[in-house]
Amino acid sequence: MMKKVLILSTPVGALSSGIGGGVELTIYNLIQEMQGRGHIIKVIAPKGSFFDHADIIEIEGNLHTPAQTQSRQTPVIMPDNSVLANMLDYAYQIQSEYDVIVNFAFDWLPFYLTPFFSTAIAHFISMGSLSDSLDQIMGKIATRFPYQFGVYTKSQADTFPFADKCQCLGSGIDLSLYQFQPQPKKQLAWLGRIAPEKALEDAVKASEITNIPLLIFGKIQDQEYWQTIQNQHPSAPIKYQGFLSTKDLQAQLRDCLGLIMTPRWVEAFGNVAIEALACGVPVISYARGGPAEIVTDGKTGFLVTPDSVEDLAIAIQRLPEINRYDCRQVAEDVYSLTAWGNRFESWLDSFI
Ligand code: UDP
Repeated sequence: MMKKVLILSTPVGALSSGIGGGVELTIYNLIQEMQGRGHIIKVIAPKGSFFDHADIIEIEGNLHTPAQTQSRQTPVIMPDNSVLANMLDYAYQIQSEYDVIVNFAFDWLPFYLTPFFSTAIAHFISMGSLSDSLDQIMGKIATRFPYQFGVYTKSQADTFPFADKCQCLGSGIDLSLYQFQPQPKKQLAWLGRIAPEKALEDAVKASEITNIPLLIFGKIQDQEYWQTIQNQHPSAPIKYQGFLSTKDLQAQLRDCLGLIMTPRWVEAFGNVAIEALACGVPVISYARGGPAEIVTDGKTGFLVTPDSVEDLAIAIQRLPEINRYDCRQVAEDVYSLTAWGNRFESWLDSFI
């Protein structure tokens, strides 16, 4: 049945800025797929947000600090003139026109406010556990609204005390945008927000050891961190390519031998892993978090001992063992927009 869905975006950055990380792509893909199925979708997001073919209400206000830049014990922080508070004010006013609100903000306020809204709020959690105060409010709301918590993966859910209340929905991408490339060049890719939890330095070291060039794509979220990596590895064969659109990104990514993922944290999913697989690019990742559920060791890439640069280097040498068609196939079977839209739709149907 057709639904009217109001999406509450992340308050850490405007959509399309890259600051929000993978959740931006998740929201974009959700809009396209749900609209294609005849649902009516409106998005409330910080000012400056834009997406093609999307109805976005831009809201003024100060952006919120990403949870991963704070410690577990940091109390809840509300900036002056909070964009999230303004987004929720707006959602509150128009809620009666919608069947459901889907919240993507990993922030205390929308969880706390859930019982005060008359329209159901479904929470899609895009990160693993990072904050005690957030865990506490999410646990409380999950007990009261047990079907309204969606996550990407089981490993992500397992970081929360309320793991049994989380519905695992995975993710999905528009496969028609990613072109399969059977014959790569001798180069590696690393892709994502350039921030300490992603441990780019490990991929840089692995490229230095193997002497295979590493192309780096992504938003520089932490400039000082990026500068330190460059200073410490002046002769590593790395090349920063910038933050690219999906179209330009896949055009370069598909030519690579493999994607290197080095998450220091429990990566909730890792949209970049399925983007690589869609191009036929195998993924080497530390065996932790979302990537460990996406990659089949020895078939679509390699899962190596977390934080071992030596193991990354060994896996890089083994990349030619992987059949690139198997990588594309898994993307088609599990991570198509249709497969993901089905999971998302049945989740909403389960409680609306
Ligand atoms: N990305 C992009 N252009 C780039 C590099 C990265 O659009 O040049 C996007 C990529 O498509 C992915 C996101 O950045 O959607 C990174 O998300 P991921 O889920 O891997 O990690 P997160 O940032 O959410 O921790």
